[in-house]
Amino acid sequence: MSFRVSDRLAALPPYLFVEIDHKRRAAVAAGKDVINLGIGDPDKPTPKFIIDRMADAIEDPRNHRYPFDAGVPEFRTAAAAALKRSYGVEVDPKRELIALIGSKEGLGHLPLAVVNPGDYVLVPQPGYPVYQSAAIFAGGTPFYMDMRAETGWMPDLDAVPAEIRAKASLMYLNYPNNPTAAVATEAFYTRAVAFAREHDIVIAQDAAYADVFFDRPPLSILTIDGARDVAVEFHSLSKTFNMTGWRIAFAAGSAEIIDALARVKSNLDSGQFNAIQAAGVEALEHRDHVQVRAMSDVYRERRDALVAGFAQAGIEIDAPQATFYVWAPCPAGLDSMTFVTRVLEEASVVLIPGNGFGKPGEGYFRAALTVELDRINEAIDRIKRIKW
Ligand SMILES: *Cc1c(COP(=O)(O)O)cnc(C)c1O
Repeated sequence: MSFRVSDRLAALPPYLFVEIDHKRRAAVAAGKDVINLGIGDPDKPTPKFIIDRMADAIEDPRNHRYPFDAGVPEFRTAAAAALKRSYGVEVDPKRELIALIGSKEGLGHLPLAVVNPGDYVLVPQPGYPVYQSAAIFAGGTPFYMDMRAETGWMPDLDAVPAEIRAKASLMYLNYPNNPTAAVATEAFYTRAVAFAREHDIVIAQDAAYADVFFDRPPLSILTIDGARDVAVEFHSLSKTFNMTGWRIAFAAGSAEIIDALARVKSNLDSGQFNAIQAAGVEALEHRDHVQVRAMSDVYRERRDALVAGFAQAGIEIDAPQATFYVWAPCPAGLDSMTFVTRVLEEASVVLIPGNGFGKPGEGYFRAALTVELDRINEAIDRIKRIKW
């Protein structure tokens, strides 16, 4: 037998973070004290009250059986209540909300429910790589919507050509945004909903960072008139509660789209372990718990240290209003790869090259605020010594 990977796998674009990861490994292997501002994965543990709930739930034999496909009723109800409290959005937990095995799972499966081979999928760039992969796996063709600093890292929907609009069935959005840390305006969401309704395009709005904000909470797209017919918003417990390893999230919005996604999922997975959903209920019911809100203060302190420190190094950064990322132009007109390579080689600090998120990210870099403050300060001290 001669084995060959599927055409859909072969069609994935190259993963541009590989190169910097090789260099990081080489530095670690050479015994360097590497400070990794690359990966955005919360460094603090999951709050104890959530772990305690999991410990109880795991003892209950009812939780050892197959989970409810779309999520246990208590989880769906708690998720709907959280949307109501945070955004004033009311969804029916039975018809308009579904539990996910992490939001990546739902974002990845959605095209199988709403995209036909040959359809276009509108994918924002720079952006989270899962959107384009999911589009390609479903036989769709990604159409990249370039985002730029001048337009607040929101795509210009008027620039999507008529023939693309006519054959597009899905548009991904992501606010607060990874990697740019941008927050969407109400005017943009209003335009996006009108655009989607006019061209019969499903909107998948990825709100993984909805709870990682510094001043006021970001908007939910579901608050926009008419959004409920065309949009689904993906919320995750991963970043909010330091639960990336647990794999628990939910999607809410149009009942028809939720139903279609549920049918894909019931054919491919059987939902998340009931005990994890029970821990998820505990988390969602305590979003205002001091330990949870305190995370924003931790990120704020790190953000302020990093922005001030980089300014001393001659690198000007706008302080982000949400997410645990900082996104900024590389100094001295350097391209992304040259800049992050020099920072790694001369300061042993890992940054992510912006072009890895798509072409419009060229000339930018991303730093994650998921390491302790003293390490951020140490990283700055080292970066300051580099002569550009
Ligand atoms: C982290 C992240 C996710 C994935 O979150 P999970 O719920 O853990 O799968 C989704 N979208 C973006 C933009 C992210 O950065």
